[in-house]
Amino acid sequence: MIEIQNLVKLYGNKSALEGVSFNVGEGEIVGFLGPNGAGKSTTLNILTGYLSSSSGTVKVGGIDVFEYPDEAKKLIGFLPEQPPLYHDMKVSEYLNFVYEIKRCKLNRKKHLEEIMQTTKILDVKDRLIGNLSKGYRQRVGIAQALVGNPPVIIFDEPTVALDPKQIIEIRNLIRNLGKTHTVILSSHILSEIQSVCDRVVIINEGRIIADEKTESITRVAGDTNEYIIKVAGPQREVQSALRSLRGIVFSEPTGERDGDSYCFRIKSETGVDIRKPLFYMLAEKNWPLMGLEPQGMNLEDVFVRIMDNDMKKSKSAKA
Ligand code: ADP
Ligand code: MG
Repeated sequence: MIEIQNLVKLYGNKSALEGVSFNVGEGEIVGFLGPNGAGKSTTLNILTGYLSSSSGTVKVGGIDVFEYPDEAKKLIGFLPEQPPLYHDMKVSEYLNFVYEIKRCKLNRKKHLEEIMQTTKILDVKDRLIGNLSKGYRQRVGIAQALVGNPPVIIFDEPTVALDPKQIIEIRNLIRNLGKTHTVILSSHILSEIQSVCDRVVIINEGRIIADEKTESITRVAGDTNEYIIKVAGPQREVQSALRSLRGIVFSEPTGERDGDSYCFRIKSETGVDIRKPLFYMLAEKNWPLMGLEPQGMNLEDVFVRIMDNDMKKSKSAKA
């Protein structure tokens, strides 16, 4: 449904994209993950025809976005990083306005009602956009993307600056839209992509560094060797026992205390599952293990792993 080939974007003489390529199949819900400044918005703005590329091609539904921008744009609903909302318009006025600009042919009243229902903004349709909460405003942004029933929807960091409850609502909405649309969701938050997408394309410094099923990224990220543990026992003795346990390469009290229990941050050697030896050692000392919390990797850790893996792969391919 979406074919991106060799996109290069220069801002002046600084390159933001250095040959970005990936495809998205019909009905897929793909995460576009990368740290700030990686080139996500640049890619999505080019893909949606809002920005020109320095070179490369983009096709949506087989239509070249640069050659036939009007036709291509009809297939795409876009929620940019800064949604184009008019704060002095009422919600329903705004959606009517979008309907006009998009020269939508669908039954106006019915279509807009349906969209407001899907995005759950019917109850604020007569309110000024400027007076809405951020969460509602974001939903109005999604509503404008849905006008015209485009089969492809692109969300650029849609949950930034929302509170946790609003984040959950927007993610649910995107997940639901994913059942009937082809979706790209960009984010710098790994867990957001994990909770919504089937596949993840990772971009870093203007290059695609991974394109995988979300499961396999989760496996890389979940294979942790760092834990916060809570142990009911004397802090100093526990610490020295942890230090001398085989397989542990790092241990330090976190300073947190809960009754007679103390927390420690521990790291084991790569490839060692420390949980069993840890349990037996503590049991033998009669220090109950009150908590064991894997420390999920952050995006940077995952990058390091992916790049390591890539290097190993290319080495073994050469060997
Ligand atoms: P992301 O959305 O992943 O945070 P962007 O696509 O916004 O990344 O930016 C990619 C790179 O291009 C960054 O280094 C950013 O500073 C630069 N950049 C983005 N927009 C412009 C612009 N209009 N002019 C110059 N540099 C830009
Ligand atoms: Mg961005």
